[in-house]
Amino acid sequence: MRRSLKGSRYVATASPYLLWLVILLAVMPGCRQSPSPASEEPEQPGQLLPQVKSPPVLLIGADGLDRKLLRKLVRRGNLPNFERLLQEGASGVLYSEREIRSPALWTTIATGRPRAVHGIYDFVTGSRLWPRELRGEERRLVTSKMRKVPAIWNMASAEGRKVAVVGWLNTWPAEKVNGVMVSPYVAIGRAKQITIKGAVYPDTPYQVWPQERWPQIRALITTPDEVEESLVQSFGHEPDAEVVREIPLLARYLDGLRWSLAHTLTMRDITLHLLREDRPDLTMVYFEGADSLGHRFWLFRRSQRRIAAQLEEAGMPGRHAGALAEAFGHVVDRYYELLDGVVGELLGALPENAMVLVVSDHGFGNRSCIYPLPASTPFTGEHRIEGTVLLHGNGIRSGASIYGATIYDVTPSLIEMLGLTAPSLLEGKSMLAPLVEEEGAGDEEERASEEGEESSAEESFRAAELERLRSLGYIQ
Ligand SMILES: [Zn+2]
Repeated sequence: MRRSLKGSRYVATASPYLLWLVILLAVMPGCRQSPSPASEEPEQPGQLLPQVKSPPVLLIGADGLDRKLLRKLVRRGNLPNFERLLQEGASGVLYSEREIRSPALWTTIATGRPRAVHGIYDFVTGSRLWPRELRGEERRLVTSKMRKVPAIWNMASAEGRKVAVVGWLNTWPAEKVNGVMVSPYVAIGRAKQITIKGAVYPDTPYQVWPQERWPQIRALITTPDEVEESLVQSFGHEPDAEVVREIPLLARYLDGLRWSLAHTLTMRDITLHLLREDRPDLTMVYFEGADSLGHRFWLFRRSQRRIAAQLEEAGMPGRHAGALAEAFGHVVDRYYELLDGVVGELLGALPENAMVLVVSDHGFGNRSCIYPLPASTPFTGEHRIEGTVLLHGNGIRSGASIYGATIYDVTPSLIEMLGLTAPSLLEGKSMLAPLVEEEGAGDEEERASEEGEESSAEESFRAAELERLRSLGYIQ
């Protein structure tokens, strides 16, 4: 278990520069007696950073992980590892932005820049999601070479930090980093390609950098055929032949389930391997399952009446609602449980002092009926603009709330955690110091004396955050 975080309140509220200064003074012998470079030049902390080793950071990206559902399942006691992150760390909504399209959002998360700057709008070029002048271009897979600005792994590599990047969207071909990059390939048109989110294939080049690591990584791939039947069965089972005959899409969705499980296990095993073998300063891993399974099975969590209505709306027989609820009603929730187990394993492979950040690019919820039902995913739920952020580690106050954070704030937060030099042009800001507010129990005396002050500070803080969200166009 992690050390208690009580008493470390100072760290979450101190400015990062001050924090570095304190750490430096603590680790440098003789600092207290004689003037040190730190005390002479406190306004130039960048020069000091390389001398201080920051704690390792793990960023877990979970596509479409919904905060409401997560908390509901935590309350039921089904997600012990997420529960621990929520209780011991800080959490809140991470606001996404429209159009909700994974490659654009995950590239914003990894660069801190809007799509108009990083240049990634969609999975393929030329679609309606690109600016007018780029629509109608030949359809090509978006590649890592199309990204116009450095990502956090480039920034970290440039300053000598060791990175491991696993499965992050739009990183193929794998980039040269100071460490390892495992890049998912989007194999459009392949028989087994069930989602457009990409996977690591045993027979595709340029998925790993450096290339000499490929044999190790390749051995860690779980293919859909290799997923244990008992695991698949714990998610859902094939309904009666009559149901599948009348709704043939279900057979494909069962393949999709197997594919998502294989993807999750592969990402888990590669990340565990790299955490143990390489001890990176920054590890990033991406899981697509909460989103893709939400698109395929969300409806079946709902009431039979609702299932029947949406089936009819999609031109399918509503009388199968009961059978489908029975076969697939737990797929989405069960995926959150699987991911919880994976998170627990990843936490177990980290050193005590590690910082952990879990983010989603958007939330997921019941479909509202104002939009036409998509033909390819008639059982889908709906993207929500509210994503999730969980932040855990030494110095983060237990049970604290993060207010008004956006996908633009992830890269600045990583920069602060890793002690990197921040580029001058970043839309967001670090979530660490300014956004972590105490909610749960703290130092009683201090709280009592500060109470009045604190609540008014919180009010003006929230007002400032609302203003910021308004200016970014998140709210009106
Ligand atoms: Zn989605």
